[in-house]
Amino acid sequence: MGLLSLWAESLTYEYEILKSCTHHKSPRSKCKKCVESCKENAISFVNGIPSINSEQCTQCGDCITACSVQAVAGIFPARTVKNHRLVITGDQVPSIKELLVYYKKGITEIAYDGELSVHWRKSIEDTNEILHLLGEPPFTFMNEKMEEATIEMTRRELFFSWKKEAKSLVVKMAPAKWRFNQEDLQLAKYYPSHQFAEITLDTSKCTLCKACEFLCHHKCLNISDDSFILNAQSCSACHLCEDICPEKALTVIEKVSAHKILNLPVVTKVCSTCGQNFKTLIKSDEVCVPCEKKKNLLDIH
Ligand code: SF4
Ligand code: SF4
Ligand code: SF4
Repeated sequence: MGLLSLWAESLTYEYEILKSCTHHKSPRSKCKKCVESCKENAISFVNGIPSINSEQCTQCGDCITACSVQAVAGIFPARTVKNHRLVITGDQVPSIKELLVYYKKGITEIAYDGELSVHWRKSIEDTNEILHLLGEPPFTFMNEKMEEATIEMTRRELFFSWKKEAKSLVVKMAPAKWRFNQEDLQLAKYYPSHQFAEITLDTSKCTLCKACEFLCHHKCLNISDDSFILNAQSCSACHLCEDICPEKALTVIEKVSAHKILNLPVVTKVCSTCGQNFKTLIKSDEVCVPCEKKKNLLDIH
């Protein structure tokens, strides 16, 4: 490993929550994946926004991979790769998401020296189940003696393609600015023919208010004059659309499947109560949303 990379590896930065956190987008977000992922209880909510206590944080990187919108900034602890094999060192187990990224970077073998811990084995086996759903061969294990001196690439080098882009990295490495690239953990870009979430819309509840379309950072939802398109390929299962929908019309589940686009027709009707044109997903609708709500209010009283 070069001197430059050794220097960079030795730097530490405090982890922080970025403005892309779903709680900055809406106070109705219920996401607490980072809080739940932290074994040190270093993340808690302060005024409705997650906050990292740097004194408790051990910079294990678990919250970085847990966040669906890459809103945790920080640097992963180093991992080692030898001859395109991920070398198991220490007890910091990579997440499934991380392993799936390594896989697409050409790291398809895991090398270990001696016993494979239960946690490592579980993470790799769970990843292999997902690889099966993705139609990919599993990670293979190699039990072999490791020599420290033969380590060739660190985890950060792996993500940054360090050796290929050495010049531009020198610029990025200015202290306090150099961060893990938030885009690197978006599985959708590595597996374009699959989706990692399923979005379901209850057409009888949706009022086409467009709040979900406005807040989805991955543009998975598109509402036009004649259609409501749900494209889950780039959905990261942040659940923000589900949390903010005033009609509780959306459901998002984490599930791996072949990429499919749902195209629901929007029809224009004339309201039988007020006589105005209105848009709906239900062909048999006769009353617009404001008139329907007014009617429901009157029925209650
Ligand atoms: S996991 Fe990400 S989006 Fe969710 S609360 Fe934490 S920082 Fe915000
Ligand atoms: S799914 Fe919910 S948030 Fe989206 S347009 Fe329909 S009612 Fe509005
Ligand atoms: S569709 Fe919903 S769950 Fe998926 S990325 Fe967009 S807001 Fe998040």
